[in-house]
Amino acid sequence: MRHNLMLLLLVLTGVFVPSAAQETENVIIVTIDGIRNDEAFEAESLYLRHVWNDLRPLGTIYRRFWNRGWTATTSGHTTILSGVRQILNNNGGADGTVRSFDPLVFEYFREYLAEPEASCGVAFGKTGNFGAICDYGLEPAFGARVRGSQWGADTTHDDTNCLKMVFGLMDSVRPRLMLINLACVDGAGHTGVYEDYLEAIRVADSVVFELYKRIQAIPPYEDTSYRNRTLYIVTTDHGRNDDAHSGFKGHGEWDHGCRDLMFWALGPGVRQGAVIDSISRDQIDIAPTVGAVLGFPTPFAEGELMAEMFEPGRAPEPVLVSGAPVAAQNLSSNPGFSRDPDLARDRYGNLHLVWSDNTRGRWLVYYSRSTDDGMTWSMPRVMFDFPAEDSVMWYARVAADDSLAVAASGFGRHACYIDSVEPRRMDSTFLWYPWMATSTDQGGTWTAVSLFDSSMGMYYPGVAVREGRYSVAWWICGRFGWQAAKKGLNFNSREAGGEWDSVPERVKNSNMVHIALRDDGEQFHVATCAMSGDEDADILYFMRDSSGGWLKDSAVSDPLGSPVYDHDPELVVDESGMVHLFWQRKPDQGGVWRLMYGRRDPGTGAWDTLTLVSGPADACQPHAALKGDTLALVWTDYRGSASEVYCCFSTDLGLTWTEPEPVTTAGTLTQHPRVSPAGEGFFVVWQSLSVFGSEEGRSLDEVWDLRLRHLLLQDHAIRVIVEIDDRSSLHCWTPL
Ligand SMILES: [Zn+2]
Repeated sequence: MRHNLMLLLLVLTGVFVPSAAQETENVIIVTIDGIRNDEAFEAESLYLRHVWNDLRPLGTIYRRFWNRGWTATTSGHTTILSGVRQILNNNGGADGTVRSFDPLVFEYFREYLAEPEASCGVAFGKTGNFGAICDYGLEPAFGARVRGSQWGADTTHDDTNCLKMVFGLMDSVRPRLMLINLACVDGAGHTGVYEDYLEAIRVADSVVFELYKRIQAIPPYEDTSYRNRTLYIVTTDHGRNDDAHSGFKGHGEWDHGCRDLMFWALGPGVRQGAVIDSISRDQIDIAPTVGAVLGFPTPFAEGELMAEMFEPGRAPEPVLVSGAPVAAQNLSSNPGFSRDPDLARDRYGNLHLVWSDNTRGRWLVYYSRSTDDGMTWSMPRVMFDFPAEDSVMWYARVAADDSLAVAASGFGRHACYIDSVEPRRMDSTFLWYPWMATSTDQGGTWTAVSLFDSSMGMYYPGVAVREGRYSVAWWICGRFGWQAAKKGLNFNSREAGGEWDSVPERVKNSNMVHIALRDDGEQFHVATCAMSGDEDADILYFMRDSSGGWLKDSAVSDPLGSPVYDHDPELVVDESGMVHLFWQRKPDQGGVWRLMYGRRDPGTGAWDTLTLVSGPADACQPHAALKGDTLALVWTDYRGSASEVYCCFSTDLGLTWTEPEPVTTAGTLTQHPRVSPAGEGFFVVWQSLSVFGSEEGRSLDEVWDLRLRHLLLQDHAIRVIVEIDDRSSLHCWTPL
């Protein structure tokens, strides 16, 4: 009531300007699948006649809007819907085998605003690569329970039929949050007939304009339920190859034509006739903006609210998650999004921590060390000073032995030709690189090197160090055939005092989304999650012997037609050469994630595989460490009301295991635990959602922090008995 009175007072005194969030009740996003910006806004009114002439003056367009990840349909749409870069291959026609790793806006919308399933979803003209898998993602804290609707079928493939279906939905269930895919432009582009491609764009233009008239109740439309209260966005999932890179027929590579996207928005508070060319935006910025205007949080999203497209004073505020504070040592303790920690202990007993952090306004890799067994930590330093404009660094992993190695991946903006004939114009694109930093003085000084570019994008590179020998394994995708380094799993190593290979070894030509690497002093061991087209992900194992040959094995390979998710492999190798492999597994439909454990006999090469943690709820993101004969396993477990870190131990190299025990009982979102040996016991570090306003002196936009706990084992009656907690040992860093 007090709030309403205040609003009334502001209105009466004439100073009240409603924010976009107060006036926006619906969001409709249209993706014109695979329209190249050459034929979109670069051509002005030539093909998108209505959008350019009639709609553009009413809203805002961006001149620098990018797909900086994999420029294909599954990846583009899941990135738009999740706000997290999803580097995923197209899922083909299959349902469920390739999904977003993070929640989609539909899941947040339903979870936080208690909306029904019919209030949101995707409308599509093709199920392949998009429709079948854009209702929910794989994060168990959300998921199918709060899925969005799927409206459409392959039979609605024609964009005008798709529009009719959408009109029917607007008349009946009245969705409040909808993504509509117009599939025909991409289909026509792939035929290679330029006139057909242009004609499909003209049709899409009229569809977008007709939908605008329906939203605004412009005759012949009469329903006013969307009028003046809908944010309407038109963009695309990816562009197409520019003429310097084989032309409009294809896409899915790293060139400017594939990355440069059209973006237009209209709605309450959105600037009219604005052209934004001074700020670069990205597909990951859409979900946080949608969440802010509709009034729900998007806690996993990595993007930013696109405040500049709103009139001054009318931009919505981000909505934050409410809950209780977390009681555990706060390692990051900064106002940014701190995520994906990794921890390693060197042979001198120092602990080395890396993570990704956006406190400085872009994603960077931070490093800190503890020389007193976790009691205090050094002020974090930025590990890679990637020089390119618009660059980010993330996905860091650390390995430690006699020396240290940190691997990360990131992208930078590069100039490239966009025309095939003179005079050739240049523009920019984004290339991804795996980077390595090494230290021989226990983390005092570092030497960084970028390895061969990986072009499209990737997740964590596996990294190892042993007796001065460094190695790294990473995934390359989106290459053109003429490029020296090839698609797939790539590997490079450097003997102590030696040089990196100038061109990496390609181990296998598959899509590898999670890569773990260990060096046992003689052999290199790699475990990956391989995603191969329409089939589900399998866990592959590779071993490189001293002669340089690769043994290639499947730890799990499901038969075709029975897809099961097998994700996030991690491995350790014991003194006998036995490989201990951990990963998470879930049925394609329904069921929960459980933790799998396989041991590979070094003599026979045979795997004995069992389910290690099974129910009652999801168990995922396993990570293991080995100290003597003791294996420590940590993971994220959803058996309580929230996601928590759990642990278990084996003191006999995996023959028997203790019961799972909780490391945290925070009651908030918890992610990405990693475990490392300590002087005594083990340390576990993880990422958890800090609740705003609950801790003094914190700024409002703080979201995720890193937390640390110490796990001690006593008398082999293994249980967690000591936590190095909380406020007493909190080390406050000075501001960066
Ligand atoms: Zn597409």
